[in-house]
Amino acid sequence: MVSLDGLEDTHNKLRGNSKAFSRTMEFLKRIEEAKKKYNSKTPLINIKSTVLDENHTELVPLMNFCHSKINVDVFTFTFLFQNRARGGMELLEDFSSEEFNTGNYAEYINIEDVTKTVCEIERIKSKFPFPIVYKPRMKFADVLRYIKNPSSLNVDSCPQYKNNLTLYFNGDLAPCDIGLKVGNIRDYDYRFQKVYQSESFKSFSNEMHSGHKACQGCCAGCHK
Ligand code: SF4
Repeated sequence: MVSLDGLEDTHNKLRGNSKAFSRTMEFLKRIEEAKKKYNSKTPLINIKSTVLDENHTELVPLMNFCHSKINVDVFTFTFLFQNRARGGMELLEDFSSEEFNTGNYAEYINIEDVTKTVCEIERIKSKFPFPIVYKPRMKFADVLRYIKNPSSLNVDSCPQYKNNLTLYFNGDLAPCDIGLKVGNIRDYDYRFQKVYQSESFKSFSNEMHSGHKACQGCCAGCHK
């Protein structure tokens, strides 16, 4: 998966690096050469763009540009999300605290214009030989709802937290990508199975019913 958030100037501006776009294109060219050399279909090229107020006018041109330059396998559009419960935060130990209940508080400013762009992508997507995917996963009608109000959609039960743990550098453990500390690997004799049997994990799991706000906006969760 390779992120491109616009044509050259816009992408470089958003990344704060005047060479970001050219380096990415050079990398993709090398991948293509290697695939040809080894007669391989992999690695698959998934171009990922985040739909922003700042870049939406360049998304259709970017699709055309990529299609003309490289063999794209998938094009993914991700929508804005901000959720304090997700990774990147300092791990907390109380799942009932406010941070886990803010939900997805991202907002688009130019809702009408962003909607128009996304409708245009939907209208022309069949012209491209690669699939176009929206993340978070949702029906197209819900994509439009999401642009209007990201917090109006919830994750429709995702089992990932029951079998994914994040192990941090200091041994702390968190379920999936949620910033909740459910212990330290040393406390469980380095056995992941014991984590799932622990009281802290069970109490977290009991609260993770369908539609919990901690998951709102997660690109892996199917939203509705
Ligand atoms: S929706 Fe995302 S954060 Fe929530 S359990 Fe699934 S993968 Fe994890």
